[in-house]
Amino acid sequence: MKETFLGVDVCTYTYEQLVAKLMEDIDNNRKSFIVAINPEKIMKAQQDDRLRELLNQATYPIPDGIGVVLASILKRGRIRSRVTGIDMMLRLCQEAAARGKKIFLYGAKPGVADEAKRRLEKMFPGIQIVGTMHGYEKDEQVIKEAINQSGADILFVALGSPAQEYWIANHMHSLSPKVYQGVGGSFDVISG
Ligand code: UDP
Repeated sequence: MKETFLGVDVCTYTYEQLVAKLMEDIDNNRKSFIVAINPEKIMKAQQDDRLRELLNQATYPIPDGIGVVLASILKRGRIRSRVTGIDMMLRLCQEAAARGKKIFLYGAKPGVADEAKRRLEKMFPGIQIVGTMHGYEKDEQVIKEAINQSGADILFVALGSPAQEYWIANHMHSLSPKVYQGVGGSFDVISG
């Protein structure tokens, strides 16, 4: 279920509905791509057709911004609360820990993804973070092999926006994880 704001789609699911859908996607071997949509991205997409097309390729464009919620209320839509990128990531980590789904962290400065992994392991006992790679490694083959050999089900990509969304759209079809989420500066936040 989606609503459209100035040509950019946003889905109307809650966190709980999204987590359930993402687990189903993994179990059914379906690939999905989560993009956080905020008013800034919607405005940028007005002047950038390529960006608008990219955002509209997402399986789950989440309403990450109170502006999107307000716009939905004004047009009598169904979106009543934000679904933020970082909260979505943490809820996905929690569910992955409970269900034995594996996670890979790609992006941020050297050392940051490793520290985020340690913090997530403390927050969610049992979580399986099967690999990390910093975001300044640019050798496509090295990145691809590390991700595919890890056996990860979920890939979080923290390269900043919209670079991470372009990266996901260009690579998800040749990678083995099922769920892809661009998470911006979230590894920096989690690693403290
Ligand atoms: N980054 C990266 N590789 C790059 C450029 C940026 O890994 O080539 C990382 C950077 O270290 C930071 C994140 O991408 O961790 C960008 O965070 P920012 O808060 O700027 O992203 P936003 O949430 O604004 O999209």
